[in-house]
Amino acid sequence: MKDTTELQRAVRNVGNIANLSTPLGLALAALSGARLHAVNGLIVADRARLPIVTASAITVGSVVVLPRARLDSVLERIPGLLSHEDRHAYQWAYCLGLPFIPAYLLAMGWSWLRTGDRASANFFEIQAGLELGGYTRRPRRPWDPGYWGRCSATQSLG
Ligand SMILES: [Zn+2]
Repeated sequence: MKDTTELQRAVRNVGNIANLSTPLGLALAALSGARLHAVNGLIVADRARLPIVTASAITVGSVVVLPRARLDSVLERIPGLLSHEDRHAYQWAYCLGLPFIPAYLLAMGWSWLRTGDRASANFFEIQAGLELGGYTRRPRRPWDPGYWGRCSATQSLG
Protein backbone atom coordinates (compact mmCIF):
# COMPACT_ATOMS: atom_id res chain seq x y z
CA MET A 1 0.00 0.00 0.00
CA LYS A 2 1.45 3.36 -1.05
CA ASP A 3 -0.63 5.64 1.18
CA THR A 4 -3.70 5.80 3.38
CA THR A 5 -5.99 6.62 0.44
CA GLU A 6 -5.00 3.37 -1.21
CA LEU A 7 -5.53 1.50 2.07
CA GLN A 8 -8.95 3.18 2.56
CA ARG A 9 -9.95 2.20 -0.98
CA ALA A 10 -8.86 -1.38 -0.38
CA VAL A 11 -10.92 -1.56 2.84
CA ARG A 12 -13.88 0.02 1.03
CA ASN A 13 -13.61 -2.42 -1.85
CA VAL A 14 -13.48 -5.46 0.47
CA GLY A 15 -16.48 -4.00 2.35
CA ASN A 16 -18.43 -3.53 -0.88
CA ILE A 17 -17.76 -7.16 -1.85
CA ALA A 18 -18.87 -8.35 1.62
CA ASN A 19 -22.02 -6.19 1.61
CA LEU A 20 -22.84 -7.61 -1.85
CA SER A 21 -23.05 -4.22 -3.61
CA THR A 22 -20.02 -4.84 -5.84
CA PRO A 23 -21.33 -8.30 -6.87
CA LEU A 24 -24.65 -6.55 -7.71
CA GLY A 25 -22.75 -3.96 -9.78
CA LEU A 26 -20.84 -6.71 -11.59
CA ALA A 27 -24.11 -8.51 -12.33
CA LEU A 28 -25.53 -5.29 -13.80
CA ALA A 29 -22.36 -4.87 -15.88
CA ALA A 30 -22.55 -8.47 -17.13
CA LEU A 31 -26.27 -8.30 -17.96
CA SER A 32 -25.77 -5.05 -19.88
CA GLY A 33 -22.81 -6.37 -21.89
CA ALA A 34 -20.40 -3.74 -20.54
CA ARG A 35 -16.60 -3.85 -20.91
CA LEU A 36 -14.67 -3.85 -17.62
CA HIS A 37 -11.64 -1.72 -16.77
CA ALA A 38 -9.78 -1.29 -13.46
CA VAL A 39 -9.24 2.43 -12.84
CA ASN A 40 -7.92 3.91 -9.57
CA GLY A 41 -9.47 1.30 -7.29
CA LEU A 42 -12.79 1.24 -9.15
CA ILE A 43 -14.15 -1.20 -11.70
CA VAL A 44 -15.42 0.85 -14.64
CA ALA A 45 -17.98 -0.93 -16.85
CA ASP A 46 -18.40 1.14 -20.01
CA ARG A 47 -20.57 0.75 -23.11
CA ALA A 48 -23.34 -0.79 -20.98
CA ARG A 49 -26.57 -1.44 -22.87
CA LEU A 50 -29.03 0.23 -20.49
CA PRO A 51 -31.51 1.90 -22.85
CA ILE A 52 -33.77 3.69 -20.34
CA VAL A 53 -31.00 5.11 -18.13
CA THR A 54 -30.38 8.83 -18.67
CA ALA A 55 -27.60 9.30 -16.08
CA SER A 56 -23.97 9.58 -17.26
CA ALA A 57 -22.95 6.92 -14.73
CA ILE A 58 -24.44 4.61 -12.12
CA THR A 59 -22.18 3.43 -9.32
CA VAL A 60 -23.18 0.20 -7.59
CA GLY A 61 -20.70 -0.78 -4.88
CA SER A 62 -17.24 -0.20 -6.36
CA VAL A 63 -18.49 -0.68 -9.94
CA VAL A 64 -19.09 2.41 -12.11
CA VAL A 65 -21.47 1.54 -14.95
CA LEU A 66 -21.44 3.91 -17.93
CA PRO A 67 -24.55 3.53 -20.11
CA ARG A 68 -23.74 3.35 -23.85
CA ALA A 69 -20.63 5.56 -23.78
CA ARG A 70 -16.92 4.78 -23.67
CA LEU A 71 -14.99 5.86 -20.58
CA ASP A 72 -12.71 8.26 -22.50
CA SER A 73 -15.62 10.09 -24.15
CA VAL A 74 -17.42 10.45 -20.81
CA LEU A 75 -14.24 11.84 -19.20
CA GLU A 76 -13.89 14.36 -22.02
CA ARG A 77 -17.37 15.66 -21.15
CA ILE A 78 -17.11 15.33 -17.35
CA PRO A 79 -13.42 15.25 -16.32
CA GLY A 80 -14.17 14.89 -12.58
CA LEU A 81 -16.63 12.03 -12.98
CA LEU A 82 -14.43 9.25 -11.56
CA SER A 83 -13.60 11.31 -8.44
CA HIS A 84 -17.35 11.84 -8.00
CA GLU A 85 -18.16 8.15 -8.48
CA ASP A 86 -15.27 7.17 -6.16
CA ARG A 87 -17.11 9.03 -3.37
CA HIS A 88 -20.35 7.20 -4.23
CA ALA A 89 -18.44 3.92 -3.80
CA TYR A 90 -17.55 5.04 -0.24
CA GLN A 91 -21.23 5.87 0.35
CA TRP A 92 -22.18 2.30 -0.59
CA ALA A 93 -19.62 1.08 1.96
CA TYR A 94 -20.75 3.29 4.85
CA CYS A 95 -24.42 2.50 4.15
CA LEU A 96 -23.41 -1.21 4.37
CA GLY A 97 -24.58 -1.95 0.83
CA LEU A 98 -28.23 -2.19 -0.12
CA PRO A 99 -29.56 0.35 2.47
CA PHE A 100 -27.85 2.92 0.21
CA ILE A 101 -30.66 2.44 -2.35
CA PRO A 102 -33.64 3.62 -0.21
CA ALA A 103 -31.44 6.29 1.45
CA TYR A 104 -30.41 7.61 -1.98
CA LEU A 105 -34.02 7.54 -3.27
CA LEU A 106 -35.18 9.54 -0.22
CA ALA A 107 -32.40 12.10 -0.74
CA MET A 108 -33.30 12.31 -4.44
CA GLY A 109 -36.99 12.87 -3.63
CA TRP A 110 -36.07 15.56 -1.11
CA SER A 111 -33.87 17.26 -3.71
CA TRP A 112 -36.68 17.12 -6.25
CA LEU A 113 -39.08 18.80 -3.82
CA ARG A 114 -36.58 21.47 -2.77
CA THR A 115 -35.04 22.33 -6.15
CA GLY A 116 -36.96 20.57 -8.93
CA ASP A 117 -33.75 18.65 -9.68
CA ARG A 118 -32.67 15.20 -8.48
CA ALA A 119 -29.14 16.23 -7.46
CA SER A 120 -28.99 19.87 -6.28
CA ALA A 121 -30.21 19.21 -2.71
CA ASN A 122 -29.41 15.49 -2.63
CA PHE A 123 -27.09 14.82 0.32
CA PHE A 124 -25.24 12.02 -1.48
CA GLU A 125 -24.66 14.05 -4.67
CA ILE A 126 -23.52 17.10 -2.71
CA GLN A 127 -21.10 14.94 -0.70
CA ALA A 128 -19.78 13.37 -3.93
CA GLY A 129 -19.31 16.85 -5.45
CA LEU A 130 -22.03 18.24 -7.73
CA GLU A 131 -19.62 19.98 -10.10
CA LEU A 132 -17.31 16.93 -10.29
CA GLY A 133 -20.33 14.87 -11.33
CA GLY A 134 -21.28 17.33 -14.06
CA TYR A 135 -24.30 18.73 -12.22
CA THR A 136 -25.34 22.36 -12.16
CA ARG A 137 -26.50 23.43 -8.70
CA ARG A 138 -30.07 24.76 -8.80
CA PRO A 139 -31.38 27.20 -6.18
CA ARG A 140 -33.66 25.91 -3.44
CA ARG A 141 -37.32 26.80 -3.54
CA PRO A 142 -38.45 29.15 -0.79
CA TRP A 143 -40.02 27.74 2.39
CA ASP A 144 -43.31 29.52 1.83
CA PRO A 145 -46.54 27.59 2.54
CA GLY A 146 -48.29 29.55 -0.20
CA TYR A 147 -45.65 28.62 -2.79
CA TRP A 148 -47.05 25.17 -3.60
CA GLY A 149 -50.60 26.48 -3.85
CA ARG A 150 -49.47 29.13 -6.31
CA CYS A 151 -47.54 26.50 -8.31
CA SER A 152 -50.56 24.22 -8.69
CA ALA A 153 -52.79 27.22 -9.50
CA THR A 154 -50.34 28.27 -12.22
CA GLN A 155 -50.23 24.74 -13.61
CA SER A 156 -54.01 24.41 -13.72
CA LEU A 157 -54.19 27.69 -15.65
CA GLY A 158 -51.66 26.44 -18.18
ZN1 LIG B 1 -23.48 11.20 -8.39
